[in-house]
Amino acid sequence: MALRINDAEFYAIDAHSHLGRRKTPLGHGVASFLGEDLVRNLDEAGLDCAVAFPLGASYTDYSEANQIMAEEMAKYPKRIISFCRINPNFGPEATAKTLDHCLGTLRLRGIKLHPEIEFFDPNEAELMEPIYDAARRYHVPIIFHTGMSSKASPGVIAELAAQNKDVPVILGHMGVSEYVKLAVAVARQNENIFLETSVVGWMPLLLEAFRGVGTSKILFGSDHPYNPLAMEVEKIAKHVTKAAKLKQDDLKKVFADNFLSILQHDR
Ligand SMILES: [Zn+2]
Repeated sequence: MALRINDAEFYAIDAHSHLGRRKTPLGHGVASFLGEDLVRNLDEAGLDCAVAFPLGASYTDYSEANQIMAEEMAKYPKRIISFCRINPNFGPEATAKTLDHCLGTLRLRGIKLHPEIEFFDPNEAELMEPIYDAARRYHVPIIFHTGMSSKASPGVIAELAAQNKDVPVILGHMGVSEYVKLAVAVARQNENIFLETSVVGWMPLLLEAFRGVGTSKILFGSDHPYNPLAMEVEKIAKHVTKAAKLKQDDLKKVFADNFLSILQHDR
């Protein structure tokens, strides 16, 4: 498996995808999306591997969903890197316990947080401290959903990220639209903050990010299965590559190397 861009082949990782079962289907009818489905779609799109976390759901501590993440990663160890999803509203003690289970026992490889769906403030120290502590202890990154809500603003997230410089923080969707400029600003100010490409759809904003922070701090992501993999791959591999004049070395970083070095940081 390899991604072909301009006659060169790349090992390619999707840094943002989802797995799991939902009681109610997503807008396009998906109620169950498991490892088998993800791997089939990776094959079709020419990607080697995907970082996956649970589909969003209200009023849950994600314990069942996180268990499924571990099972699916065990079935496809070379194709799926599973992160856990945490709802910090269950309180600092529950969060610390859940993270010990997810990162220690289940050996999940990172933490996904969604400030809007889970409805918390990512600068609320009491709720967030056990998360940064666990990320530090287990040497894993945190990925936040950003954009579409002031709760998920890169500026709010950066407040605590800036105090936890040894924890890599990925801004999923790099702010989507109205928050892209802010995402670029905080990634420039903080060595541990990275930007992920999914969902951003306006070329001037994508170019602002690629020019503003450089290709060493940008990770390819799709937000699959919410978005089709091929659509998100083409956006970067074809359109941004042409518009930003990306070279082979840039593509290698964006499609794999940046994520791999985040995953291996501190080791
Ligand atoms: Zn997502």
